[in-house]
Amino acid sequence: MRRGQGKRKAEVKEEPCASRRRTEEEEAIQEARRRAAPSVREFKYNKKRVRLVSQGPDLKDDARCILYWMCRDQRVQDNWAFLYAQRLALKQELPLRVCFCLVPKFLEATIRHYRFMLRGLQEVAEECAELNISFHLLLGYAKDVLPTFVAEHGVGGLVTDFNPLRLPRQWVEDVRERLPEDVPFAQVDAHNIVPCWVASPKQEYSARTIRGKIHAQLPEFLTEFPPVVRHPHPPSCPAEPIAWEACYSSLQVDHTVKEVEWATPGTAAGMAVLKSFIAERLKSFSTHRNDPNKAALSNLSPWLHFGQVSTQRAILEVQKHRRNYKDSVDAFVEEAVVRRELAENFCYYNENYDSVQGAYDWAQTTLKLHAKDKRPYLYSLQELEQGTTHDPLWNAAQLQMVREGKMHGFLRMYWAKKILEWTRSPEEALQFAIYLNDRYELDGRDPNGYGGELTLVSLCLAGCLWSICGIHDQGWAERPIFGKIRYMNYAGCKRKFDVDRFERRYAPTHSQ
Ligand SMILES: Cc1cc2nc3c(=O)[nH]c(=O)nc-3n(C[C@H](O)[C@H](O)[C@H](O)COP(=O)(O)OP(=O)(O)OC[C@H]3O[C@@H](n4cnc5c(N)ncnc54)[C@H](O)[C@@H]3O)c2cc1C
Repeated sequence: MRRGQGKRKAEVKEEPCASRRRTEEEEAIQEARRRAAPSVREFKYNKKRVRLVSQGPDLKDDARCILYWMCRDQRVQDNWAFLYAQRLALKQELPLRVCFCLVPKFLEATIRHYRFMLRGLQEVAEECAELNISFHLLLGYAKDVLPTFVAEHGVGGLVTDFNPLRLPRQWVEDVRERLPEDVPFAQVDAHNIVPCWVASPKQEYSARTIRGKIHAQLPEFLTEFPPVVRHPHPPSCPAEPIAWEACYSSLQVDHTVKEVEWATPGTAAGMAVLKSFIAERLKSFSTHRNDPNKAALSNLSPWLHFGQVSTQRAILEVQKHRRNYKDSVDAFVEEAVVRRELAENFCYYNENYDSVQGAYDWAQTTLKLHAKDKRPYLYSLQELEQGTTHDPLWNAAQLQMVREGKMHGFLRMYWAKKILEWTRSPEEALQFAIYLNDRYELDGRDPNGYGGELTLVSLCLAGCLWSICGIHDQGWAERPIFGKIRYMNYAGCKRKFDVDRFERRYAPTHSQ
């Protein structure tokens, strides 16, 4: 995106500012950003993160602003899409606007998810205001509201972030079709460290096949971010004030799934979780992350899912402790980079990422062969949802998810495999599992839930069944229902951790 004739550079100070007092850690991070470059204008921005959705000519001369349509990466700092938009705006000496399109419903999301998201966006809006950047909350689908916004505000160039899932991809396509031809439209992968389309040009088979590709490219992409700075070109008309509480009336979502207490939404709270992970839990990540009674996980998934915290920032901070906790840091990089980006790759390249047809042929075959096997128990969706099966560990895991919006990672595997065992078909298992996962998990509706190694789709049979079977479909005994798919049982869990303790912690109450 270039405009034929650049204007004279404005003499402006681009010092970052923030009225909320930064913590010591935030101040150190901000200093690191400043060391990377005073602003993104002076930064050597890696264009491989960007791809053009629609070409458009050079920026038109009468452009009045650059717009960042924020979707998935709901944060200001450490956001390559935001930075790219600011870079364009600084170069063209134009105001920068940011908008978010609030859709009335999204898959199985409930008020639990919407409140988490909207409270995070409120923080984004405040931070934007401090940086002289207008933030607009548009009610409705992007295809219906963005083209009008673009015309009304004289948007000269549009930037958005990237999500490999079907619906958000469709939103981008819909906007591309309706955007005036003279408005170039760029997309930036601000969620992955190695951009999804760069990491691999095809669907990868397993962590084993993508790991080397990711690690080879980390030196190029795992860099410090420059800061998003106070924007020197104010908008001609400021954004309308946002009636945050009133937005809720536009939503068509289930209000019965309540917010959770332990997870405070927003970037500041997410960064505090990262800080506590490094200080308190990182040391035991490599040894205790498969024990649901131990506090060893990062707990970052809700903030990573909503883009309130950047995975790249989490990795940069965690890696500073490799000298003390080598095994834990390496294990965290494996989960948060390799496995996570594998899931992105799966959803991006496999259009059946959430259905049984997405599974490899051998996996579909093994399941078909066992389709008529007698199920020891058959549960309805309601029985599963209420956690009233015969298995107290499964019920406890389900109740952890319902109450806290986050089931422990190890139990997610057990949980999904049992749904396969206790439902009429793999298709039904997958449908129930996705419904429950996306309705209750704060991190639900994420590529990790469909595609990553050892994730929902893998376990429930669609998608990449590589995980269940180790590297391939070898080495596991043929079992009823599961065929060649790796099995898990209660006795195995008992050998791994104190199952009774976990069951007591998430025992049913009368109201459940
Ligand atoms: C059946 C099933 C369903 C799942 N559904 C989801 C989901 O909806 N959303 C979701 O984000 N994750 C999902 N996962 C993956 C994983 O369980 C969670 O990411 C993890 O438990 C989140 O907790 P944490 O951030 O404390 O994890 P940590 O262990 O601290 O890991 C840090 C980050 O690494 C990534 N990660 C960890 N494990 C995996 C994995 N196996 N595959 C891909 N990325 C991983 C996540 O981004 C996670 O936040 C699912 C796994 C299974 C088996």
